[in-house]
Amino acid sequence: MRILIMGAGLAGVTAAFELLEDGHDVTVIDRQPGPAQETSFANAGLVAPGHAFAWGSPRAPKILMKSLFSKGQPLRYRLRFDPALWRWSLKFLKECSAERARINTERKHRLCRYAQLALQDVVSRTGIEYDGERRGLLYLYRKSESFENGARNMQIMMDAGHELEEIDRDRAAEIDPALEPSKGKIMGGFYAPSDESGDAHKFTVALAGLCKERGARFRYDTTVTGITTEGDNIDEIQTDQGAMKADLYVMALGSFSPVIARSLRETVSVYPVKGYSATLPINGANNPPTLGGIDEDNLFAYVRIGDSVRLTAVAEFAGYDTSHKPSDFSSMLKAAKELLPNAGDYDRPSYWACLRPMTPEGTPILGKGRLQNLYYNTGHGHMGWTMACGTARINADLIAGRRPDLPMDGMTLR
Ligand SMILES: Cc1cc2nc3c(=O)[nH]c(=O)nc-3n(C[C@H](O)[C@H](O)[C@H](O)COP(=O)(O)OP(=O)(O)OC[C@H]3O[C@@H](n4cnc5c(N)ncnc54)[C@H](O)[C@@H]3O)c2cc1C
Repeated sequence: MRILIMGAGLAGVTAAFELLEDGHDVTVIDRQPGPAQETSFANAGLVAPGHAFAWGSPRAPKILMKSLFSKGQPLRYRLRFDPALWRWSLKFLKECSAERARINTERKHRLCRYAQLALQDVVSRTGIEYDGERRGLLYLYRKSESFENGARNMQIMMDAGHELEEIDRDRAAEIDPALEPSKGKIMGGFYAPSDESGDAHKFTVALAGLCKERGARFRYDTTVTGITTEGDNIDEIQTDQGAMKADLYVMALGSFSPVIARSLRETVSVYPVKGYSATLPINGANNPPTLGGIDEDNLFAYVRIGDSVRLTAVAEFAGYDTSHKPSDFSSMLKAAKELLPNAGDYDRPSYWACLRPMTPEGTPILGKGRLQNLYYNTGHGHMGWTMACGTARINADLIAGRRPDLPMDGMTLR
C-alpha cells in the first residue's frame, strides 16, 4: 500500500520504520529541512515509564490557579483569548479526579513500558547509536512534604509492577557520584533501574536514514496546507510543493495535528504546551551526571547526552509561540546549579523551546477518525520519546488489521 506520513518527528519516523517492515511503500513529508527539527529536536532524552504520571490530578487545578498569579513557576498557565485552550482546559479539568488520574496514569504507564521494549527491540535490530544509557533514572525530592507526596504517587507505578527503590541522599550520591557535592539538599528519592535515557534527535535522524536506505522517500521543505476529501476518504494532500496522493495517510504532525485536522471537521484534543531546554557543553573540569533524572521540587529534568548536559523545564500554555529569551531559563539554571554545580559549562548554554503535543488525558491519539484512509499517530505530550516506538507498532498493527498488543482504551479519537 502507498502510505503518506505527515510529519518527520519521532512519531512520523518511527511510524515509517514499522510500516516499511510491513512491506508498505512509504513517503514522509515535513516542512523542515530534515527529520526531528521541532519538538523531537532537544528534549530531555528520558525514557521514563517510571514517571508516566498523568498531569491531571486532584492537585492540578490548584497548581494551575496559582500559576496565574505568580511568575517564574515551572507551570505557567495564562488566560488568553484562545477558544482551543478553553476547550482543552475544560476537558483537562474533567481528568483531574483521583479516579481519572489513576486510570490515565495506569494507561500511560502500560503504553510506556510496551514502548520501551519496542525501542529496545528497534535498537537491537538496527544497531542505531543514540548515546543510550540503560542504568536507570533518579527522581529526587528536596523537601520532606514533596517526598511524601511523591511516595504516594509512586505507589501507582509500584502497584503496576514498576521496579522503584526508595533512596536516601547517600544512596543517591552512591548511584550517581555527580550528586555528592549537593547531596545535603536532597531529602530522598526513587531510583528506577529499568528506566533509561538517550538522544531522541540522534535516534530519529539515524532511523530516518535507515528508512531511506530501505526505500522510504522523504520530502523535506514541504508544508501541508490542506486536505481534500471525497466521501469518507482523503483524496489528496495539498502542500506548498503541489498535491500528493496515496492510498492511506498517517497524521504525525505533533502540536499541529489539530490545525490540519480542523479542515476535516475533526476535533483533535491536542494543545501545545511549551517547554524550554538548555544544553551545556562539558569540559574537562566538569563532573556531569552519569544518569538522567528529575528534580521533582523544581520540575527540571537533566541528562548527559554525549559531550553535553541537557536541562529541560517549564510547561507553559502560550499557544504556538516558540520564542525564548535568556531570562526564561534563569530559574531552571539556578536550580540545576544547586543540584549539579559542576555538570557542565553554565556560561555557554544553547537555548531552545518547543511545544509538547498534549492531550487532556496524557495518552496519545491513534487509529482512525471520521475518514477511512487517515490514521492518527499524535498527541504524545511530554513522553513522545518514551512512547514513539510503541505507538508506531500499534499504528502499523491497526493499518494491517492486526490486533494491537495493548488495549486501545483512552488512545482513540475522543
Ligand atoms: C522541553 C521538552 C522536554 C521533553 N522531554 C521528554 C523526555 O525526556 N522524554 C520523553 O519521552 N519525551 C519528552 N518530550 C516530549 C517529546 O519530545 C515529544 O512528545 C515528541 O517529540 C513529539 O514528537 P512528534 O513527532 O509528535 O512531534 P514533532 O517532533 O513536533 O514532529 C511533528 C513534525 O511535523 C512537522 N509539521 C508540523 N506542521 C506541518 C505542516 N503543516 N506541514 C509539514 N510538516 C509539518 C514538524 O516540522 C515536525 O517535524 C519533551 C518535550 C519537550 C518540549
